[in-house]
Order: sequence, then C-alpha cells, then structure tokens
Amino acid sequence: MEKQFFYQSKYDYYREFNRWVVVVASLASVTYFVSDCQLFGRFAWETLLPRTFILLPMLLFLLVSRKVTDYRIMVPFTYLIVHGIMWCTIWAIYYLPIRQHANEGFIIMHLMFFAVGFCAPFGYSTLFHVLVVANILISNLFNHYESLNLMLTLGIPCVVGICAVNYVMEKVYADQYKTKLELEKALTMDQLTKAFNRNKLVEICDENDRKLLVDNSRETCIIITDIDYFKKVNDTYGHDAGDKVLIYLVDTIKQVIRSSDYVIRWGGEEFLVILPGCPLTNAKNIAESIRQKIESGDNGICKITISMGISSYDGTDYHKAIVWADQALYEAKNSGRNRVVCYKNEEG
Ligand code: GH3
Ligand code: MG
Ligand code: MG
Repeated sequence: MEKQFFYQSKYDYYREFNRWVVVVASLASVTYFVSDCQLFGRFAWETLLPRTFILLPMLLFLLVSRKVTDYRIMVPFTYLIVHGIMWCTIWAIYYLPIRQHANEGFIIMHLMFFAVGFCAPFGYSTLFHVLVVANILISNLFNHYESLNLMLTLGIPCVVGICAVNYVMEKVYADQYKTKLELEKALTMDQLTKAFNRNKLVEICDENDRKLLVDNSRETCIIITDIDYFKKVNDTYGHDAGDKVLIYLVDTIKQVIRSSDYVIRWGGEEFLVILPGCPLTNAKNIAESIRQKIESGDNGICKITISMGISSYDGTDYHKAIVWADQALYEAKNSGRNRVVCYKNEEG
C-alpha cells in the first residue's frame, strides 16, 4: 500500500514533465519526414502517413492524461503511446530506400524511453524498455536492417545504462518523498503532544473549508475535551508537569479511539476528537471510556478529570458541529465537571 502511494507521488511529481516528453518526442518524430525527403531526394509521400500518424497517439495521450491521474493506468498507457511512436517510425523506415540511419533513430528512441522512465516505477520502466530491443528484432523480420548487429551492440548497453540510471532516479525520489512526508507530518502535528494540530482540519476539509472529507455516508461525531482545573495543575506542579499531563491525556485518547479517528489539539488543553462513521451512542461510550480512564489512570503527576462535549456532524458545516460540541462542554463544566454531555439539537 505504501509503495502505491510512493509511486503515485512519483508519477504526480513528473506528470507534467511526462506530458512534455510525449509531445516533444512525437513532434520530433514527425520532423523526421524532412530527412526522409533527403534520403529519397524528393517529396517522400510514402512516409508521409506513418510520420504524421504519430500525432494521433499523441493527441489521444494528451486527452487521457488530462482526465486520468492514476499512475497504474497512466504509466502503462504512456509506454503504449511511446511504443506506438516507435512502431510508426518502424513503419516509416519500411519505405526508406536506405535504412542504415535507423540506428541513429533508435538511439533517439532510447532517449525517449529514458525520459518516460522518470515518472514510472523501476519495474515498469525496465520491462517496457527491454521491449524496445524486442521491437527492433521483430521489425527486422520485414525491415531487414543493414546494421542490425551494430544496432544491438549500441542499443543493449544503452538499455542497461538507462535502466541503471532509472533505478538511481527512483532512489533519489525515495529520499525526496521521505522528506516530503516528514514535512507534511511536521506541518500537521503538535510537537508537544503528538496530536494533530489545526492544520490537519484544513487538510481534511473541502475547498470551502466547510465540509470535512471524512466518511460522509455515515454519521460522524465530534468530541471536545477540556481538562478540569488545569490551571491548578500548572500552578501547583509547574508547567513541565502540566505538559506531561497533556501528553498523557493524548496517549490515553489514542488508546481508546480507532486509527481512522483524529485527535486534534484545538487550544491549550482542549482537544477535538473526530470520529468518522461513528453513531452518537458509540461516541458517547468512547467519550465515557476516555473520561473513566483519565479519572482512574496514573499520569505520574496528580489525579485529574476531564469534561467532554459531543455533537453529531451532519456533513454540511463542521464549524457548527464544533460550536455545538463546545456548548455541550460548557454544560458539562457548569453541571459539575468530570462528565460527558451530548449537544441536544431539535431531534434531541
Ligand atoms: P476549567 O475546569 O474551567 O477548564 O478550568 P481550567 O483551569 O482548566 O481552565 P482553562 O481550561 O481555561 O485552562 C487553560 C489552562 O491551560 C491555562 C494554561 O495555563 C494551560 N495551558 C495551555 N496550554 C498549555 C501547555 O501547552 N502546557 C501547559 N502546561 N499548560 C497549558
Ligand atoms: Mg480550556
Ligand atoms: Mg480546562
């Protein structure tokens, strides 16, 4: 699964570059028509169709690459297109009076495959590049190249060298990907408690910053947690001890919730717990079990309790759901603290 994310990220990074490679390679291949005319010593009408036909796969590629972004489709598809370009070239060579320059043409093909390899998983680039040699051998059955041996002795080291470079390129991108993940994590994480920070909310929101992109098909619940009389903890045991209590609270919450839920540091000692696909009754049980664990647990500093407010998010505006949860928390504080209160809306 992680490999899939890595390769998708690699493809996304080189996506635009890949589009340019296909366009430039296609247009360059079309311009070989000029050299065909030189070889014929006249207008080479025989190769006009194969040389211009290349534009068709190019246009198809541009169309598809706009719509499809999944590397598992786009990488094989790109290779299909560049193999198409190669076969159009082979088709043009078939008509040429002198075929000894096909050798140079195929070296340029290797370069095209090299450039496409940037966006591809190493396994794909190796497989599809080895097929270039197969294309040459198969086409030799009817094109009868004058310099097949030279083509192979120049081409095979070229394939090996390019595969090696593609391998190194993948390693280089792996380093870059690791740094990217670390930066993304640092950007959305609260350094003290290792809960998410508010940036995570932005990350899981839609563009209007209204809807959470969580499991909208089922109920999502939001819990706000606030430590009771936390100022006293700081005043009595010091700020560092208070920090330890905060870390303990987040660790305890994480023990109770699922890996698909989020704990977000909302303010100093207030945390949001977002429970996607969780009905209100389950959210109540989860909140209650966090409350009990905190009340009975040993954080190494002092006994603490927490108050919690819960609301159910209807999938429209999560800001509203947070306000509701906050109102429920306010009620929990006012009715004696160390308790869980659900926001009562019209439905009760
Ligand atoms: P209440 O029961 O009404 O919630 O009382 P309280 O004392 O907990 O009041 P409040 O929630 O307003 O307390 C917030 C305190 O949290 C104030 C501040 O000193 C403390 N705090 C905020 N951020 C941090 C932090 O990062 N570390 C520590 N140690 N304390 C923090
Ligand atoms: Mg508070
Ligand atoms: Mg408090």
